[in-house]
Parts: sequence; C-alpha cells; structure tokens
Amino acid sequence: MDNFVCREFCSPLLEDHHKSSTTHLAVIAHQDDAEIVGYSGIQASFQRTDSWFSSITLTNGSGASRGGRYQNASNDALSLIRQHEQEKAALLGEYAFCQQWLCSSQTLKDQRNLAVQQLTNELDQIRPSTIYTHNPFDKHGTHITVLTIVLDALKSVIQTNPSYQPKVYGVEVWGSLDWLPNQFRIELDCSPMPNLEQALIGLYDSQIDGNKGYDTAVLGRRQANATFSDSHTEDQARSVNLALDLSPITQGIISLNDLTDEILKTHFEESKLRIQSIVSSS
Ligand SMILES: [Zn+2]
Repeated sequence: MDNFVCREFCSPLLEDHHKSSTTHLAVIAHQDDAEIVGYSGIQASFQRTDSWFSSITLTNGSGASRGGRYQNASNDALSLIRQHEQEKAALLGEYAFCQQWLCSSQTLKDQRNLAVQQLTNELDQIRPSTIYTHNPFDKHGTHITVLTIVLDALKSVIQTNPSYQPKVYGVEVWGSLDWLPNQFRIELDCSPMPNLEQALIGLYDSQIDGNKGYDTAVLGRRQANATFSDSHTEDQARSVNLALDLSPITQGIISLNDLTDEILKTHFEESKLRIQSIVSSS
C-alpha cells in the first residue's frame, strides 16, 4: 500500500539533518495544533543551535469551519491556505522541519494501520527527546485518532529500540486539563516570549477571521492555567500549558484505557471526599 502523500518544509537555518537535529516534536491533527500543544517546545528551541522543534500534521485541514473572507473557500482552497499558514509558522518559529500529510480526517481513521506504520518510520529517523500530542480527554475525535496513532507508533519504535525513552505529553486543545488530579497534571511553562507566543497563533488568519477567537482564547487559557494553578501561592508563571504525561503508556507500564480509568477514578474520589468532608461535618 502507498504511503500518505506529504508536504515538507525544511528550515533554511539548517543545511541538512533536519530530522535527526529535532529534539522537540509535535505530532498533531491539524495546522495550528502544533503551536497550541507544542508551544513550550517551540520557545525552548527558538534561536538555539542545540535544540530544534519540528511538527508533523496528520490531516490536510480541509474540513475546518470557515468564516469572514474565507467563508466561500472550497475545501481544497482552504486546505492549501492552512498548509501555507503552517509553513509560515514553521519559518517564524524556526522549526527544523514541518511535515504535513495531505489526507482527510476520514482517510486517517479508515487507514489507521498505514498511518501507524508511516509514523513509526518517521519517528525512528527523528528520535526526538520530547513529543507533544493530543490528550485522551480531548473532545475532538480526530485528535483522539492522532493520539492513538502516535502512541502505537512510539511503542513500535521503542520495542525495537528499548534504550529510546522519550518524554511524551498529551496537551489540551478542545477542553482544558485544569481538572486533572495534581499527581497527573504537568505544567509546561509558556511564559518567556509573549511576542512569539502571540505571533505564532495570530498568523492562522483563516482560522480566526470570521469570529473564531483562537488567538485570544489560547493565550487566555494559558494565563488562566498559570493563575488558577494553586489557590495559596502567588503565580509562578505568566502562561502555562497543562499536559498529561503519556510516557508510562509508551514505556509499556500502563495501557491508555487503564490510565484514563485511573485518572477519572481519582478525580471522582477526590471530588466526592471534598464534598463529604464538608457535608458530614455540618
Ligand atoms: Zn486540531
């Protein structure tokens, strides 16, 4: 079976080794997801020569809602605009490379095994130390498809190369992770470069024009995460992405189903105890 057709942009800042130079990688569903879930990795690698961020976007983005001056764009036209926006973000954010798979969400679901195989080959060449993807509590079905593809591909790479043990983060997009019990909640600091943070999400004009406020919503959620992190201490950061550590899954310690069960059970028990401690003492 043929591989999915890819479009690839490589940084002019690197002469070669775009893949093997990559230390931080976002593997995500749509154009602009890398800038949301992987932002802490983008800023950690910005203007560095020893650390490089890259992204792999698994769909062509043709099914997005559209408004403003994009409301009459065909699926193909919108997909092309989004591909260009992703490459502008890669240039601005100084990514080593950005790869976009030109397939629809449905094709990705229907040909999931092929996607796992293709991503396994890519990840084996790249071997980044940190990977950002979607989290299992995200409300977007395509994000969950991508999450399972990433986990299966990583497990396959690790099975043949057991010394490769990357950090894997599932980060919030559709739905916040502020409810995660503390022992599962990872805070990824996004504070140091507010101009870069704003510029990267702001350049996705096709997603924002027509009254979809991703540019302010993404930054606002990160600011809220920083402030509502802890009720009894001063803010430790200006901007924070919340994430779930998925490394125990890729290390074979726990399955995706068992991890989500454990988190939900802990959340349920903690909430119940908090209420019972007040109700039973009154
Ligand atoms: Zn998305």
